[in-house]
Amino acid sequence: MNLKTENVAVPNKIEAKSIYFDYDGLEILNNINLTVKEGEFVVFMGPSGSGKSTFLRLLTGLAQPKQGEILVNNQSVAKSLPDSSVVFQDYSLFPWLTAEENIILALKQKLKKSKTKKELEQLAQGYLELVQLGHAIKKYPGEMSGGMRQRAAIARALSLGSDLMFMDEPFGALDPVTRINLQDLILQVNREQQRTIVFVTHDAEEAIFLADRIVMFTPGPPGKIAEIIDVPFPKTRNRKQLFES
Ligand code: ADP
Ligand code: MG
Repeated sequence: MNLKTENVAVPNKIEAKSIYFDYDGLEILNNINLTVKEGEFVVFMGPSGSGKSTFLRLLTGLAQPKQGEILVNNQSVAKSLPDSSVVFQDYSLFPWLTAEENIILALKQKLKKSKTKKELEQLAQGYLELVQLGHAIKKYPGEMSGGMRQRAAIARALSLGSDLMFMDEPFGALDPVTRINLQDLILQVNREQQRTIVFVTHDAEEAIFLADRIVMFTPGPPGKIAEIIDVPFPKTRNRKQLFES
């Protein structure tokens, strides 16, 4: 079933209610509300420093808001960490593990049933091939370019198989061709596997191509963010149309 086209009430995946957050008194988020539906692809845009990464971290449950509440699957993330996979802006790969080992570690944490070493290696290889890193499975993060690290982090997130993915500027370091391939991949993951995706980008074209909804973080008074707003945009998944006026 495609939740987006069926005329049914789509359940909420994420609900953020009246969120307030500051870093030692530096106000970042004030009275922020956001609802994300199951299967929705939501893109955050906005100037650097407007609080996109901070808000994303709160949604993952890895950091707590000072006020307000975040629900994922109608459960407070403060009470139980939701099942989600995250691609952080700084990739957060373990530097002492190869690309393959980084993914195998994630798989081991994820898979209830134990797999043989060989099976895990095959799975890891498959995910690395998906992001066009099949040639680099034995490389350590320190031996990879920024774009390769980014793709390894994406492979790891995909390998976790969670139906909720948070991606913070995941394609920022990729060359244009790889970027287009990965956009297609992530859209396919969203459509075919009904994964809910919250995605940060500075690239308007990328946002328009991927998003069901674009949420703009608007700068408020100095040091504060005033609000987040839904931006209307021309919906197209046809790359050619993106360039036609
Ligand atoms: P964005 O992702 O939109 O660029 P961030 O959420 O990273 O914005 O940052 C929002 C603001 O919070 C910025 O002014 C940034 O300098 C500040 N900030 C981010 N992380 C920290 C931190 N760990 N400690 C203090 N200030 C921080
Ligand atoms: Mg950021």
